[in-house]
Amino acid sequence: MPQCLDIAQLGSLVIRTKAQKVSDIQTPEIQALIDDMIFTCSDSRGMGIAAPQVGHSLSILIMASAPNKRYPYAPMMEPTALINPHVISFSDESVKDWEGCLSLPGIRALVPRHTQIEVNYVDRHGQMQHAVFKDFLARLFQHEYDHLIGTVFLDRIESTKDIVMEKEYQRLIREKDERETLL
Ligand SMILES: [Zn+2]
Repeated sequence: MPQCLDIAQLGSLVIRTKAQKVSDIQTPEIQALIDDMIFTCSDSRGMGIAAPQVGHSLSILIMASAPNKRYPYAPMMEPTALINPHVISFSDESVKDWEGCLSLPGIRALVPRHTQIEVNYVDRHGQMQHAVFKDFLARLFQHEYDHLIGTVFLDRIESTKDIVMEKEYQRLIREKDERETLL
C-alpha cells in the first residue's frame, strides 16, 4: 500500500540540495518511492511533486496534472514519473503566472516560465522518453525540475512585489477570475 510521506518545507537542507541521478530504477525501493510520491501528491491535492520534497535527494519528479474546480485550465494526464529528466531546449518566449508549492505553503507568486520545453527522461519502466511540454505542463515541469536542482519558485520571481499570501491570492483570483496553480 502506498504511504503518504511528510513534505519537506523550505529551510530544510534537502530542498536546497541538488538531487542525485537514479542508477537502478527497477529496485523495489525506487518503485515504492514513486508510488508513495504519486499517493502523497494526490493526497496533498498537488499537481506535481519532486523526490527532494519527500526527503529523498533523487532525480525523480511526478507530473499529475488534472482539471478540477481549483485548476480548470490544467490538462488531464495520468500521474507520470520522470526520472533523471534532462532539458534539451526551451522557448525564448516566457510568461508570468501564479504558482504555489507544497514546500512553501501559504505563499503564491507570479513566476516567469518558458512557454515550451523539450525534455528527455527515463520512465518508471526504465525506457528513455522524449517529450515537448507546452503552457501549463511546461510550467509544471519547470517548477518540479527546479526542485531537483535545489531551486524553488521564489528564486525565479522578478520582484518581491509579485509575492502574495494565500488569503489575498484567493481574493485576487475571485476578483480577476485568474487560474491557479499549486505545484
Ligand atoms: Zn514545489
